[in-house]
Amino acid sequence: MGKKRVPRLNSLEWLDWRFPTEDSARQLFERLVWPDGPHCPHCGSAEAWRFRDKGRISRPGLYECGNCAGQFTVTTKTPMHATKLPLKVWLRAIYLILFSSKGVSSVILGQQLGVRQSTAGVPKNLLARCCRMTISPSCGATASRSSNIPDPCR
Ligand SMILES: [Zn+2]
Repeated sequence: MGKKRVPRLNSLEWLDWRFPTEDSARQLFERLVWPDGPHCPHCGSAEAWRFRDKGRISRPGLYECGNCAGQFTVTTKTPMHATKLPLKVWLRAIYLILFSSKGVSSVILGQQLGVRQSTAGVPKNLLARCCRMTISPSCGATASRSSNIPDPCR
């Protein structure tokens, strides 16, 4: 008793256990998008730091570019930015879409994510478009499981 059970690896339960907060999900996206540290999406500069407002560090995840002075987060200029969905929801959506062998409907996705079907359709359609462009024509589990995707959780 008292000892926390570790969920089965690479399950949805594991995902929630490993990335329980919005902050932890954001940090994962930051490691994936910026493996070498933050890059400004406005000008491409790697000279960036946590944004400070009147000397105080602002909300986590907000950066400022040392070159163009633009502010940005890991989702700036990505399709995720406009949706206003929490990154935890995006993480779950990506997991469910990539690891479902037969595809997942917006209805099921909405139930699993705890959002309306119309809201769940947004990440589904965006990811489907991205997959067609970059991963494979099918974007199935075969493609994602067989490729050697580095473990971002190390
Ligand atoms: Zn910049």
